[in-house]
Amino acid sequence: MPPAVGIFFAAAFGAVVGSFLNVCIYRLPRGMSIVWPASACPHCGRGLAWFENVPLLSYAVLRGRCRTCSGVISTRYPTVEALTAAMFALGWWYYGPGTLLAARLLFGCALIVLFAIDLEHQLLPNAITLPGIIVGFLFSLVVEPGWMASLIGIVVGGGVLWAVAEGYYLVRHEEGLGMGDVKMLAMIGAFVGWKLTLIALMMASFAGSLVGVIFIVSRRGGLKYALPFGTFLALGAALAATIGPGVLDWYLGFYQ
Ligand SMILES: [Zn+2]
Repeated sequence: MPPAVGIFFAAAFGAVVGSFLNVCIYRLPRGMSIVWPASACPHCGRGLAWFENVPLLSYAVLRGRCRTCSGVISTRYPTVEALTAAMFALGWWYYGPGTLLAARLLFGCALIVLFAIDLEHQLLPNAITLPGIIVGFLFSLVVEPGWMASLIGIVVGGGVLWAVAEGYYLVRHEEGLGMGDVKMLAMIGAFVGWKLTLIALMMASFAGSLVGVIFIVSRRGGLKYALPFGTFLALGAALAATIGPGVLDWYLGFYQ
């Protein structure tokens, strides 16, 4: 099979998976089942026909509106589908077919769902983070980072944020970080190991602080507007999983 064909099918499959991730993003925070019933318009509730459910194409053909009620379809749908398609295509090209590709793609899918849900609802569902910890650890038995690094990643990832959350609560008597963030970083640790987890945390904190400062300066508000840290963690983890090893080499290079 020519490489271009493989990449094309990976992208097409990714778009379909992205469509399912959209279902998870919409339904998980609302406590709805992700397998039943079939997709419906969120505005008028009409069930969608198969041709309204084709990833990316339907959105383009329908010009982002429901056929019945003309309700606006969120740009999140095509965005998530395109992002997932790109991730599958790039993953296929970079890793090639194999267990590591499966691990990385599952991890990426979990990050996309957590990113989107935290951004909208300030919520990181256990339904993603807890199975994610287990799945990440199971993959580490056969692929990088190896089970030991994965196990330390779970403990360090969860432990560091848990300590920060507890410390913040003791000092300020209010919740700064949720337990969702703690479980999410433990999941990241399970998939990429403790070293890259610390890189992910650093990148997330940096991006979060940067956006937080911009937010405070522009709105003149306090830090009361809790920023969805899970959203930044997802970005940090995605960066750590891809360019993280290079960053780590570069950073450690200073001490050699
Ligand atoms: Zn409608």
